[in-house]
Amino acid sequence: MNRTAIITGAGSPRGIGQGIAHALAAQGWNIAVLDIDEVSAKAVADAVAEAHGVSAVGAVCDVTDKAAVDAAVSTVESSLPEIGALVNNAGITSPVPFVEVSDEEWDRVFEVNVRGSYLMTKRVVDGMVSRGFGRIVNLSSVSAERGGGVFGGVAYSAAKAGLLGFSRALARELGPSGVTVNSVAPGLIDTDITAGKLDPERKAAMIADIPTRRAGQVSDVADVIAFLCRPESSYLTGVTYDINGGSHIH
Ligand code: NAD
Repeated sequence: MNRTAIITGAGSPRGIGQGIAHALAAQGWNIAVLDIDEVSAKAVADAVAEAHGVSAVGAVCDVTDKAAVDAAVSTVESSLPEIGALVNNAGITSPVPFVEVSDEEWDRVFEVNVRGSYLMTKRVVDGMVSRGFGRIVNLSSVSAERGGGVFGGVAYSAAKAGLLGFSRALARELGPSGVTVNSVAPGLIDTDITAGKLDPERKAAMIADIPTRRAGQVSDVADVIAFLCRPESSYLTGVTYDINGGSHIH
């Protein structure tokens, strides 16, 4: 395939983003790994290129910074084939209860999860529309659907619910252009996003309540996103895929 997929926040060594990068590269996509952490972005890009024989570039990018987004996407455009897919994976969570959350924390959660996805999408969408092909996938969360209760609090749940509205309205608008826009809503996935703050007893109790009796793995999410990015998935747009082991069935 002579197309490139951009994955934001894909530097985290045990994160969902690097799993998406590997899954898409296995399908032949060239890969751009963007992350606020430049060293880890480049490390993942190198590992992906080595494992799958595709072209891959890692670049620093704070997705909340419009100039940084523009610069990083320009780097991708000048060094890799045309951009065919964008996965807005960069995200932060916050377990702080609503009564305790500061204005700064609230804003930061929205900045990374919502504004970051907006800025990235805005920067790449013109090219996708003019070429008549695009796959955009946004990382929502089961917290958006069930009202928190996993790890993230009100700010996280509200921001991730915002992404569902963003995806659905954009899917409708871009439908005629060959650009699909979809969301995934993972449940508990075994990564480092909780930064050691999810205590083992609570985690065990959560797993006991999941019908499949295990936490999700990065590959559970990455496989669905790779499926949504296939050219053959052109009739899937505006959908939300739940990836939660049955913990929230609706
Ligand atoms: P992670 O913390 O392992 O990785 C997140 C990555 O985003 C990190 O590499 C970090 O450096 C990067 N990042 C943070 N702020 C950034 C910014 N401003 N600009 C660019 N990059 C930035 O998290 P993860 O568990 O792999 O989560 C990936 C996505 O999946 C997130 O959007 C998260 O909300 C979502 N999600 C995760 C779970 C879960 O249980 N792990 C569940 C539902 C949804």
